[in-house]
Amino acid sequence: AEVLLKAENIVKHYDSRRGLWGKLTGNPGNLVAAVNGASLEIRRGETVGLIGESGCGKSTLGRTLLRLHEPTSGRILFDGTDVTSLSPAEMKAMRQHMQIIFQDPYASLNPRKTVEELVGLPLKLQGVTKKAELRERVAEIVTNVGLKTSHLSRYPHQFSGGQRQRIGIARALILHPQFVVCDEPVSALDVSIQAQVIKLLGDLKRELGLTYLFISHDISVIGYISDSIAVMYLGEIVESGPTREVLKNPSHPYTQALLSAVPRVGHAKQGHERIRLQGDLPTPLNLPSGCKFHTRCPYAYERCRTEAPQHHQAGESHRAACHLLDPNIIARQQEAPE
Ligand code: SF4
Ligand code: MG
Repeated sequence: AEVLLKAENIVKHYDSRRGLWGKLTGNPGNLVAAVNGASLEIRRGETVGLIGESGCGKSTLGRTLLRLHEPTSGRILFDGTDVTSLSPAEMKAMRQHMQIIFQDPYASLNPRKTVEELVGLPLKLQGVTKKAELRERVAEIVTNVGLKTSHLSRYPHQFSGGQRQRIGIARALILHPQFVVCDEPVSALDVSIQAQVIKLLGDLKRELGLTYLFISHDISVIGYISDSIAVMYLGEIVESGPTREVLKNPSHPYTQALLSAVPRVGHAKQGHERIRLQGDLPTPLNLPSGCKFHTRCPYAYERCRTEAPQHHQAGESHRAACHLLDPNIIARQQEAPE
């Protein structure tokens, strides 16, 4: 399939003097580098899973792709159009094709609006004002996500968490978008409900021909739903590739650590050892030099502290940004006498 969305070298910096972060830290005005040169390709009909610890910039990247945040620099191509160059009116029209499902259905739904108003709002904003048409479109999508038309006159508090997320999904899908950012869509839900919502998202993707960027910190969710995986660390994509490849042969030490923290069925006998990361996630206010993972990497050596690694081939369509994969180094090690 062709590439539907291509993000090139996305940078998003915040001014830390503004907002809560600046107040809490009393920081005299550094820029917070939330996304730091991330590149990504998403093919039509594919689900790309974006994984990393909380605070690594996943949500910021997802929102920046939709221009809900303006990128500081970088380019976003959607279906051949450079969305970073669109005017507000053009962007509004583009919004039909690019939507988002938020993590917290409680926070993202206005408690004073009925389901009909909440789900119909994006259509209204696109200029559909005829009551009958609105009602029909809302009823159709609400049924698609497994709610009943008798729910249309109810308010968010009358629903369970899983049902509220269905309302959020209906609202995101009512414009028939091609591309949807799913930002931790099941993280706020009870474990018993998570599987239902993940299955629903998979079914809707097949029925409606959707393309997803699926953001999660949970590798088991990502492994289940994604065709390919992008691993994010401190605002950069450090590894990407087909899901099976990355899970079988994780090539960046950070991915190896993420995966080693998950007990995997059938791997217990092989003495599956857990790699412990040293220290905490560094603050984006004060990023490490060289490879940003060097402060926590068990394999870090001198070069890692000064030189940022390139993305190197780790397999077919599989790349990771680590000096250990540098073909020059690998060749030299093979030549070296024992
Ligand atoms: Fe670790 Fe160095 Fe590779 Fe970074 S470049 S992941 S510090 S070995
Ligand atoms: Mg987030």
